This record gives sequence, structure tokens and C-alpha cells, in this order.
Amino acid sequence: MAAYATERRIAELAVQRACLLTDKVYHSRVKGTVTKGDKSPVTIADFGAQALVIGAVHTVFPADSIVGEEDAEVLRSEADKRESVWSLVQSAVDDSAVLTADIGAVTDAEEMMALIDLGNHAGGSVGRIWALDPIDGTKGFLRGDQYAVCLALIVDGSVQVGALGCPNLPVDPAQPEGEKGILLSAVRGQGATIRPLSNPSATPTPIHMRAISALSAASFCEGVEAGHSSHGQQAAIAEALGITNKSVQMDSQAKYATIARGVADIYLRLPTSATYQEKIWDHAAGSLIVEEAGGTVSDAHGNALNFGVGRTLRENKGVVAATRNIHAEVIAAVKAELAKAQL
Ligand code: AMP
Ligand code: MG
Repeated sequence: MAAYATERRIAELAVQRACLLTDKVYHSRVKGTVTKGDKSPVTIADFGAQALVIGAVHTVFPADSIVGEEDAEVLRSEADKRESVWSLVQSAVDDSAVLTADIGAVTDAEEMMALIDLGNHAGGSVGRIWALDPIDGTKGFLRGDQYAVCLALIVDGSVQVGALGCPNLPVDPAQPEGEKGILLSAVRGQGATIRPLSNPSATPTPIHMRAISALSAASFCEGVEAGHSSHGQQAAIAEALGITNKSVQMDSQAKYATIARGVADIYLRLPTSATYQEKIWDHAAGSLIVEEAGGTVSDAHGNALNFGVGRTLRENKGVVAATRNIHAEVIAAVKAELAKAQL
């Protein structure tokens, strides 16, 4: 059997089940939003998805560690929210009963709370550590735009397996109003694949980044939130590279998915402050999928992302993902622009 075949399958099924839950909340009026200490929003769907994914990983790989974005603290003081999350988790488990033999179930609200809190690991360079963002792009989720459920396995500091569920990306990018919901996954050295989220028995199709012969033909995928990556500097970099194509804007690691499947070519995340540290769960799965689809992913200075230093990428600043043959040129333009800003 190929290396990490079980991990990839379990990651896919865990993300699949979590997407059932997030999709239900996405289409409902009540999202149970709470504002966290860092002022970012979290919803009942973030907590429910974290419980489901950790439940699956912990059932199959009980010895592994988990770094998850959320913790259950607010649910301990807010009983009504805890009950809402529990009823979502129960119904997602019931609606995906065929998966229970593979990824288990969650028995009660207390177990659910304990599972959410299992995501409190500090990360590091030793052993098997799963990185989970139960809803990446919560702002997009609340706005009715793109978001992603993201899970990766990091082994001794190197990402080996990644799965991304993108419930609102079209199955066929040529038909943006057609069926929505894709699941991408990758294992290092084995390529990246895609399948519709709706069909766990569909044969996954390999994905590849687009071949780019001239940089001027390339296009960017960028975030919606200007507070997460500087749009002004990105525009200056585009100009320096002679890129005039309109950027595709979206929230979350759906950006990594979009360049990996060849709908755009470059994803820049330009540092907006000297102190912000990117989180490992915001990049682990997406960066592996892009690399396995033919891209290079580094920080803004061209250094490899170091997933083995804790819960954040504190040794790196920003992220630059691009098709392999244009990555060096993009980095040169990014460095020149960042140097200007520091003058
Ligand atoms: P995006 O959808 O690409 O804008 O990214 C969403 C992610 O940005 C969230 O999951 C946060 O972890 C992360 N984030 C929050 N604040 C910042 C910041 N100041 N710079 C970069 N990323 C941030
Ligand atoms: Mg996130």
C-alpha cells in the first residue's frame, strides 16, 4: 500500500463529514457567532467541525497529537451554544452513518467538548502532529462566500498529508453556477487529486497547476480581507511583473485549491504587520496540495515554510505560492516591493 494511504483516506472522510455540518450552518440564518480575544469571529460550525475532525483522527490514530485552531472554553460558559453545537454534531454523525465504521462517532456533549480541547497541542518538530482549521475563512463563511475545512498531517516538521474541503467552489470551474463542493487531497511525493464533495466513491482526478510560458499571462488569487494581506503591495508587484489579468479574490485556503487546479497561478500573502505570525493550520494542507500539483510555496523572502516550530510559522514572514517555473521571478518582485516599503 502507498505510504500514508490510510491517513489520506481518514483525512478525506473527516473533512467530508465536517463539511456536512458547516454546510448546514452556512445555509441557516443562525450562525451562533462569538468574537474571540483576537477580535476574529468564531461560529457554532467552527466548534462542531473541530469536534468531528478530531473525533475521526483520534479514533483511528489515538497516539497522534493535534493542533486545532479552536478550544471549548466559551462553550463551557455558554450552555445554549454548547447545546447548539452538540445538536449539529449529532445530526452530522447521523447523516453520515455510513462513515461511522471508519471514523467513529461522538457519544455525548462531554466527549465533544473533550475532543475540541484535544486540539491544544503546542506543535513542534518531533512526531506526528495533525494541523486543523475547522473553518478557514470564517469571515467568508459569514459573508456567504468561500471557506474551507483544512486538515494536514505533519511528521517530524514536514507536511506529509493534506486534505481541503471547499464546499462553495464549483466542481467544474468552467461552470461557476453548476454543482458546488470539492475535496482536494495530497500525499507528499504522490501528487494531488480532486473529487466532488458529494460523492465519496468518485474516483479522484489528479490536478496540475497551469503551464505558464510568459509571466504576463499569469493571474493572481488574492484574499478578500485587506487586513490579512496587503492589496496595494500586491498591485505594485503585479505591475512590476507585467501582469494585467484581473485577480481572483476569495477567502481561505480555497486560494490554494484555486491555483492548484489551474484556475489562477500565484497566491501572495504579504505581511501586513511586523508582529503577525501565520498559523500552521492556515497553510499546511494548502501548501502541500499546491506543491504536489506542480507549485513552489515559500515565505515572502523565498525561504521554505517551517511547520516544525510550534503552532505558528514564526520563522517565516508572508507566503508566496506559484507555479514552479515562475516562483523565483515572483519572489524577486516581492522582495523588491517589500524593500521599498521598509525605506
Ligand atoms: P484569508 O481568508 O486568506 O484572509 O485568511 C483567513 C485567515 O487569516 C484566518 O484563518 C486567520 O488565521 C488569518 N489572519 C488573521 N489575522 C491575520 C493577519 N493580520 N495577517 C494574516 N493573516 C491573518
Ligand atoms: Mg484560518
